[in-house]
Amino acid sequence: MAKIRGLILGGTTEARALAQALSKKAGFDILLSLAGRTEKPSNQPVPVRIGGFGGADGLASFLRDGGFDLLVDATHPFAARISANANGAARLCGIAALALRRPEWVQQPGDQWIATRNIQQAIAALGPGARRVFLATGRQEAHYAEAAAHHFYLVRSVDPVNPPLNIPNVEYILDRGPFDIDREIGLLASHRIDAVVAKNSGGAATYAKIEAARHLCIEVFMIARAPAPAMRAVETIEEALRAIDHLFPPAMERGV
Ligand code: NAP
Repeated sequence: MAKIRGLILGGTTEARALAQALSKKAGFDILLSLAGRTEKPSNQPVPVRIGGFGGADGLASFLRDGGFDLLVDATHPFAARISANANGAARLCGIAALALRRPEWVQQPGDQWIATRNIQQAIAALGPGARRVFLATGRQEAHYAEAAAHHFYLVRSVDPVNPPLNIPNVEYILDRGPFDIDREIGLLASHRIDAVVAKNSGGAATYAKIEAARHLCIEVFMIARAPAPAMRAVETIEEALRAIDHLFPPAMERGV
């Protein structure tokens, strides 16, 4: 019997976990797609292809040519372009499609969040006085900090920020989640951080910095997500597996 061919658009912990879960299910042949942004991507439990497809049309052709039956958009909630392309491609080729999007973090008692729409607005909102800022938004957008070079920035990213920021007071840390609350408290305290700039990514792997900021009464300039495309969406791996079982009932249920 032919296997169900699935393409997972990844680059997140959830994509990796879903790939792992589907690889253990009988009857699925899964390919994981990465953009190729990270120099040393984590090991993945299924075959991987790397690089862009050339927009929604390119992705639609890839899906058709590869005989795929299922597309899962499990990219980061701030990777807006690929999610729009996934939605477009799924419509173009009429393939079963699903988005796996972790729920947003919600402000808790003790949190001091300043809501911002994008990183430029978050940097501007830091204000005229010099602050000590933990910039945890990833290396691709770190350069926006140059618009407010009077602050000190502690920049954390998976790969080096290249070229380095044109800012007199900056330190870099290379690290990859998951992060732990005690270490995050230690990091913020030892650098005397008084402002955190973060994306509302959701999920557990990078939430510790938000908890650490709450613990230390530090303001968080929280960048909101852009509206997601209208693709059917689930929030957890378990929900994704249930939805996939519904789309492609296991062989026994189909009487095979
Ligand atoms: P983006 O702006 O939404 O996408 C830009 C282009 O990169 C897309 O149009 C597509 O090129 C290509 N691309 C993105 N994700 C891809 C994937 N999984 N497989 C193949 N091509 C992909 O994306 P981004 O914000 O740069 O993020 C890139 C990757 O990093 C994503 O896989 C995302 O899950 C991961 N990531 C992003 C963030 C974040 O904060 N943005 C954080 C953690 C991880 P074509 O149009 O040529 O197909």
